[in-house]
Amino acid sequence: MRIPLSSIDLSDLERGYAEEALGSGWISGTGPYVEAAEKALAAFCGVDGCIVVCTGTAALHLALMCMGVRPGDEVIVPGMTFVSPAAVVARMGAIPVIADVEEVSWCLDAAEVERLWTEKTRGVIAVDLLGHPADFDSLRRVCGARGLFLVEDAAEAHGSTYKGRRTGSLGDISTFSFFANKTLTCGEGGAVLTSNPDFIRLAALMKNHGMTQERPYWHDVIGDNFRLSNLLAAILFGQVQRANEIIERKKRLAQMYRERLADIEGLAFRPSAEWADVVPWLEPVRVLPESGVSRDELVHRLRANGIDARALWTPLAKLPPYQQWSEGREISTPVAEQLLSELLWLPTSSVMNEAQVEIVVRAVHQALGVM
Ligand SMILES: *Cc1c(COP(=O)(O)O)cnc(C)c1O
Repeated sequence: MRIPLSSIDLSDLERGYAEEALGSGWISGTGPYVEAAEKALAAFCGVDGCIVVCTGTAALHLALMCMGVRPGDEVIVPGMTFVSPAAVVARMGAIPVIADVEEVSWCLDAAEVERLWTEKTRGVIAVDLLGHPADFDSLRRVCGARGLFLVEDAAEAHGSTYKGRRTGSLGDISTFSFFANKTLTCGEGGAVLTSNPDFIRLAALMKNHGMTQERPYWHDVIGDNFRLSNLLAAILFGQVQRANEIIERKKRLAQMYRERLADIEGLAFRPSAEWADVVPWLEPVRVLPESGVSRDELVHRLRANGIDARALWTPLAKLPPYQQWSEGREISTPVAEQLLSELLWLPTSSVMNEAQVEIVVRAVHQALGVM
């Protein structure tokens, strides 16, 4: 592909830290860069505690372990997301209950939480979708009234804010992923963030075999190994220091697409609710009937031109493994299904220059016969 969907944005800062980590011999899951990355991330999000882990999915798992999710519990997840939130719930023997998203934000609809609540519901995972924070005040009101936990999956929304508060600080526990295509990355990585001291302590314990600091090989709880290598934490530490620069570039890139594709009827960009300041992740575009081509046809034409455009995910409610729990429930996600049938991603790398944006913009015009 001439223009990839996403490329990593690494500088000499990250390279220097990684080399230093390698030279120091601290390459496993403890070391100075693990602590430095945790401190930097907590400060970036305005929370008291951060625990870095090996993936975003592990971070969700750890968050649900802290919440005490047990087999048979129900956890409400949005039907429009990468699969991790639902998969983690199912892996724990609990039941992912699939809810629809709202039109204004494309994030989990609080009214759906009320509609789908049962005696078995223990909590909610809200995803800050495609850089856009969910409506946490509404979600918190519903969760508070029912005694439900609220986990924020902010994997796609590094740096975005909800009414001035950073993502990563909006749930009882919040999680990040630092996979290679995420806004900040260290290749593979994740984090849980919270200001609740009990959760910080529990997460630190459980990510490291449930092993106490005080007594060697004594295990207070059943843990796991979710540690992030100090070598990757070094890269992550550099990325957090460069966060503002990366965020500004992504915002400018999304702005350029919006300006230069504004003349095309039948293409629509992601809406932004009044509570949100969005840091674009991968920029989605909606292909409407007025464009004269289907989403799949446009993806095909762009790809034939070397532009790495892609359709987004399959609606969760349509994935066979997740249908087993729908019996007896009114699972219905029309908003998610409509959006996912119309959306494609345009290349969105913070390292893209203006000339590359022009190549994409020209290819879109050409593919739609708009000159
Ligand atoms: C990327 C992503 C994850 C998974 O992160 P990994 O680091 O790949 O495990 C989880 N949730 C959402 C919403 C994501 O986009």
